[in-house]
Amino acid sequence: MIDFLSLNEGDTVYFFRNSIDEFLISKNNNNSSLVSSKIDKCSILVPEEISNIISDKKQEMIFTLDKKSCSIRVQEDNWKSNNILYFEKYYEPKRLYKHNTLKEPLKLGEVGQCRFCKKKLGEVTFDKKAHAVSQLLGNNFLLSNDECDVCNQLFSNYESELGHYLHFWRSAALLDGKRGVPKFKEDTFKMGKSKTGKLLIKEQIDKESKLQFDEENKAITITGIQKSYIPHSVYKALVKMAISFVEEEELHLYSETIEWLLDSTNTIRPNSRLIMWEQFISHPNPYPEPEILQFTRLEENESSVYNRIFIIAFSNYVFQIYIPLCSLDKRIEFSKVQFLAFPSNYTAILPLNRISIDLKDFSDTERKRGEKISIEYSYDEKIEINPSNLNTSDSEFS
Ligand SMILES: [Zn+2]
Repeated sequence: MIDFLSLNEGDTVYFFRNSIDEFLISKNNNNSSLVSSKIDKCSILVPEEISNIISDKKQEMIFTLDKKSCSIRVQEDNWKSNNILYFEKYYEPKRLYKHNTLKEPLKLGEVGQCRFCKKKLGEVTFDKKAHAVSQLLGNNFLLSNDECDVCNQLFSNYESELGHYLHFWRSAALLDGKRGVPKFKEDTFKMGKSKTGKLLIKEQIDKESKLQFDEENKAITITGIQKSYIPHSVYKALVKMAISFVEEEELHLYSETIEWLLDSTNTIRPNSRLIMWEQFISHPNPYPEPEILQFTRLEENESSVYNRIFIIAFSNYVFQIYIPLCSLDKRIEFSKVQFLAFPSNYTAILPLNRISIDLKDFSDTERKRGEKISIEYSYDEKIEINPSNLNTSDSEFS
């Protein structure tokens, strides 16, 4: 699709739906639309409520195409109330886990058998500390009793892909993991935590800067190239966390999901796209510690929404996935499924333009390279400091 229309990152494109229910796409808002052979693949990413609007009103919708990830940024302001109605209609919330309310580690699951490979103590060992939620996301307290050392080792491969996906962000937001805050390097640009715990950025003065100051709006944008990652494995890392929270009596519904998780070669492919809603909240550290919320479908036979949704909020992000390959989702028509973003608690207090929301596709099993990433910070005051007055601990990486 991208080649056919030669779209560039940030281009605005127009979607139409014609009388025979095909999606049409155009760079111009006129009738010279073109039908792309690959558009059906892309239409899976168009949320149901948007395609409904297109077909009902026969009006064009505007999307901004992010070339690198081929995700579609929905430019709708009223998504919050629609989406609350969707969750009320279809879902029941499960227990909310808030890391910061735990006084001591919470160990999930029963001792003696691995919930993934089903092997028992004796056949496998349970010596390693298994984290239900990755330490990369700031978790130290949510642990699993029922993840054996062999499975733990396998899942650590998926986690390192998640680590790559979040590398730039973790350096910029000073998000601590098992090995501290990672340092981001690109050519001569370096970003990470200083010895005094502040964000430190160093770049060579004669090179093109990766920092852009918007003096009027008091904002600074940092751009970089994402570390390469395998999207499919990133999704697996998140699904593994979701499975760790599934109640014992419901675990049998996810036996195919677990089989897929245990396939380290990514040969097994789910029959649906691995899509994730990613919310970014522009606010100082909204989730200093992770929070987990899950939803299960109210009607067992409902065939237009996924059975189980897993949401994890950490730092400035809210990630929302569904658990693929659930046995109760066999009747779902994946091209018609409704998967809407859960409005985080910050949507109630912040203007919606402070929350950006993207639907991303992690189905690909090929390593993704060269993906552009940027983040924006706001600042109160910009102070220039003479290098000779700079505290040396502030100017050295930890
Ligand atoms: Zn195991």
